[in-house]
Parts: sequence; C-alpha cells; structure tokens
Amino acid sequence: MYDVRCTMYDVRCMMYDVRCTMYDVRCTMYDVRCMMYDVRCTMYDVRCTPFHHFLMKEEIRRLALELGFDVCGFAAARPMDHLRDFYGQFINEERQASMAYLKRYTTQRLDPDILLPGVKTVIALLMNYYPPELITEQDNFIISKYAYGKQYPPYIKKKLKPLAEFIDSSGKTTSKSKIFVDSGPVLEKAWAGRCGIGWQGKNTVIINPSRGSFFFIGIILTSLEIEPDAAETDHCGTCTRCMEACPTGAIDRPYQLNIRRCISYCNIVDKGEMADDIRLKLGHRIFGCDICQDVCPYNRFAKPTAEKHFHPSEALKNMRRNDWLSLTEAEFKTLFEESSVSERGYEGLLRNVMECCR
Ligand code: SF4
Ligand code: SF4
Repeated sequence: MYDVRCTMYDVRCMMYDVRCTMYDVRCTMYDVRCMMYDVRCTMYDVRCTPFHHFLMKEEIRRLALELGFDVCGFAAARPMDHLRDFYGQFINEERQASMAYLKRYTTQRLDPDILLPGVKTVIALLMNYYPPELITEQDNFIISKYAYGKQYPPYIKKKLKPLAEFIDSSGKTTSKSKIFVDSGPVLEKAWAGRCGIGWQGKNTVIINPSRGSFFFIGIILTSLEIEPDAAETDHCGTCTRCMEACPTGAIDRPYQLNIRRCISYCNIVDKGEMADDIRLKLGHRIFGCDICQDVCPYNRFAKPTAEKHFHPSEALKNMRRNDWLSLTEAEFKTLFEESSVSERGYEGLLRNVMECCR
C-alpha cells in the first residue's frame, strides 16, 4: 500500500514520500505532481498513466505465471497488414486443404479491431505441454505429445478468464477484453511473434529461444493500452533440420507447410482416403507427428510441464501395439475421455492404426 516502486521512471513512495530523480517528481507529505507524466498523490493514492500501465503489465505477467503460463508478451493491436498478400495467396492457392474455416473471416483475422472494437493491446501467452516422460515407441503406435493429456482449449480458456477479468477490473481504467484459444479468427502464431514470446520457425511452429516449441498459445485482446514488448526475431539461421527430417517433404519451402502432405493433417484432420505416398511414411504415427519439433535444436531446452492436465494417464502409458490392435470402442472412450483424440473418433483412430499396418 505504501511502498510503490517503478524502476522505469524511478518513482518511489514509502508511506507519503514519492520521488522521481529523473523527472523531478516530489511529494512532501500528501502532494505529488508531475505535469509531464501526470503523477498525482492524494493521501495514499499515486497515479501516473505510463507508471500505472507499467505496473499493470508486470501485474498481468505475474498473474499469468501464477496461473501456470510460462511466457507472456504484449503487442500493440495494429492490423497484420504485412500478412495480407501472404494470406490472400494462401487462400487463392487453396492451401487450407479441407479446413474451409480458414477461408472465412479473413478481414477479422488480419485486423483485431473488428474482433474487439477499440482494442489496443494483444497479449500472447504460452503454456508448456512437454511431458514429464515420453511414451515408449517400442512395440507401440505413436501419438503426438500434445495429445498425451486432456484437451487444452477449455483448460487454457479457464486460465485466461481470471486474467481478462483482472485486466477489466483493475479499477484505474475501464477496459474490455476477449480471450481466444484455437477458437476464433486470430493469427495466434503471428501475434506470439509480435508479442516477443517466440518466432515462427521454418517448421511453422512458434519457438521460444530459451524454452523450445512444445507450447499451446493463448491470446487476450484488450482495450487497455499497455506498452508493447519488442517483437521476437528469427533464430533459425542456416539450420534446415526440420525440413530434412520431415518424412513427407511437407515443409517444401522454409516457413511454409504443404498441409496436404503433413502427417498431422492427414491423421488428425483429414477424413478422406490417405494418399499412398503419405501412408508409406507414417511409420507408427496414429495421431499427429512431432518429428519437425523433435529435431529442432531449440527443443533441447524443453522442460517437463508441471500441468498435470497434460500428463498422460497410466492407461495410455501402458498401451502397446496389441492393445491398440484390439482396442474396443468402450476402451477408446475411457482412454480418451476429454482428450483431443476423442474428436477423431473411434473409427477414425482405428483407420489410422490400419493405415500404419498396411
Ligand atoms: S508434423 Fe511431421 S509431417 Fe508435418 S511437417 Fe512436421 S515432420 Fe513433416
Ligand atoms: S529445426 Fe532449425 S530450421 Fe527448423 S525450426 Fe528449428 S531452428 Fe528453425
């Protein structure tokens, strides 16, 4: 209550004393005033617009970490004009494959102000899902690490909600906020880059330079103005490991994915018949593919997540090849209750098992 400190503007209040050597703010007893930065103190109340926003930013970051997020960054909510041509070409070339929703709401995707009129800031957050132990690939089929635990969108939304409520009820400002987790026309990866929490690698995944890429992304749009962080820069350099390791050649150009050739698309999203040349490269992958992330040198920094929600169940850890081959619908439901795999359905997963065996 009485001890306020701001390293940026060097403001300090110990009881009634506020001082800023840099901008010459002084408080003797109850009165503080700075015309330049609008600092006012009546009794115990210190107000300064940039100072307050700086404190808010640190408070939001602190609360985000408390809620289980690993990284949190801020960007000004300007339209993604630089992606307009790229996205237009993506749609013109039908690169969205069967994901028709990517063709809709293009203007909203590029301009957050349409999604939340008056939006000033985009907050991007990462939540780690790297498992504490990898499920053996010996005598087994393989599912992607992101699907080891329970579904992530509802869980992450539940975590973002108190953060958005905190922002909107901060008391010193009136703001409105909206949250998104794989749930609206938002370019999450592009925002993560702008917010400075990672860059989109040649494998098209968001990579944090000190933590790797096994993360889910959450987004908050807010009308509260917060000082932006510096955007992250590309650290792929001359590395092409992901492109070389991809078994189907789906990363046919750096930073671009030929979705139709990506195993994750073919065994998670697409319900059509699998092309022979993809099927021959499946290996034992029955749900997703992590190869281009596993080989990325930045994932040597990946640490096990503390979020039990994303840990695999004992039953899943104990599954072996013969268990998959004889899996019944009832067993499937128990095994993948609340899991992303449940969206693929029993028949869909079985089809993938069979494709791996052909
Ligand atoms: S997920 Fe697998 S198939 Fe898709 S791009 Fe990465 S390595 Fe290639
Ligand atoms: S493997 Fe290399 S090129 Fe691919 S995303 Fe990682 S750093 Fe970038």
